[in-house]
Amino acid sequence: MDNEHPQWHPDTLAVRAGHERTFEQEHGEPIFTTSSFVYSSAAEAARKFSGEEAGNVYSRFTNPTVHTFERRLAAMEGGERCVATSSGMSAILSMALGLLESGDEIVASRSLFGSTIGLFDKYLAKFGVVIRYVPLSDLSAWEAAVTPKTRLFFAETPSNPLQELVDIRRLADVAHRHDIKLVIDNCFCTPALQKPLSLGADLVIHSATKFLDGQGRAIGGAIVGDHDTLEKLYGVVRTCGPCMSPFNAWIFLKGLETLSLRMKAHCDNALALAHWLEAHPSVERVHYAGLEHHAQHALAVQQQSGFGAVLGVEIKGGRENAWSVVDATRLMSITGNLGDTKTTITHPATTTHGKLSDEQRRIAGISDGLLRISVGIEALEDLKADLARGLDQLGG
Ligand SMILES: *Cc1c(COP(=O)(O)O)cnc(C)c1O
Repeated sequence: MDNEHPQWHPDTLAVRAGHERTFEQEHGEPIFTTSSFVYSSAAEAARKFSGEEAGNVYSRFTNPTVHTFERRLAAMEGGERCVATSSGMSAILSMALGLLESGDEIVASRSLFGSTIGLFDKYLAKFGVVIRYVPLSDLSAWEAAVTPKTRLFFAETPSNPLQELVDIRRLADVAHRHDIKLVIDNCFCTPALQKPLSLGADLVIHSATKFLDGQGRAIGGAIVGDHDTLEKLYGVVRTCGPCMSPFNAWIFLKGLETLSLRMKAHCDNALALAHWLEAHPSVERVHYAGLEHHAQHALAVQQQSGFGAVLGVEIKGGRENAWSVVDATRLMSITGNLGDTKTTITHPATTTHGKLSDEQRRIAGISDGLLRISVGIEALEDLKADLARGLDQLGG
């Protein structure tokens, strides 16, 4: 669906876009739990199957609840069209299957979600796709990695967990000079804080599992962009089958309605916690683009409308001390997941980045004392108290 109600504010689109009431005049969005759809005649069935007449045939192809989610997210990202998928990973896989041939190349940020690197190196590589990794913010490295076979640039900004950024507008300029598509995984900011398409990116990827749901209930994903590209990617999802379930689509619709309120609460808590942590004698350093000494603070102010929920916190004294801060928590959830109203805490060197070699971890900047906190929307004083329990016993 083309960019409907572009005149509405994003907060209004989040609540209203995408739902067309059925003849029942329902107020809430209905969940269409049906695998197939019926026709009034053989002729109508023939027209629907041939594509001569628009309409639902089978829920692997289209489903009204999933479609409502797609229209709403497309409107929020400012894209012409969205295709929903069963997970964030299947969104990336479908994008690659739809756009790449054997022998094509991707230039990607080396600071990517671990499974994305796994998908690229283990599976796309198997089919002859070449991946070249570059430091996220180094635009000349992106350009230097381009060859005549490069088809895609792929980046997450800000990065996880060190909160490094790339200038999307300038990266898009580099990509387009070489006729390359720029794909941004917008999982950490969501459209509430950053709109990559308006900055020149060609496609946006989402793991709906994270902030779009925001309450840890379901796995899902999406791709947003222009109509022609999305038509190709829709073909992949329709044929290969990584479609979103209607029930999950309904959960994500409800998530989108409160997205901007939640993101604001996440950002406020994260910034306040970052300032408090920075002043603590047991803390070496806090990585958060909202802090003025962050190397890319100015870019974050210009490119994002908030700094997000995720903090990298280096504890003095390495792994032992970092673990004791984790183990002293009573409220925060010790888990590798993020993007939840509940605050989560993890020690990347031994969890999310545990499979890397020491050298790879050093290059990625994952020190032994580093903790990642995905700050939730609980009361700030409870979060501080939960961290203070461990931090205070370490001394300065
Ligand atoms: C979680 C995540 C993914 C993968 O999404 P799933 O829904 O878990 O498949 C992709 N990119 C980023 C940045 C993520 O955090």
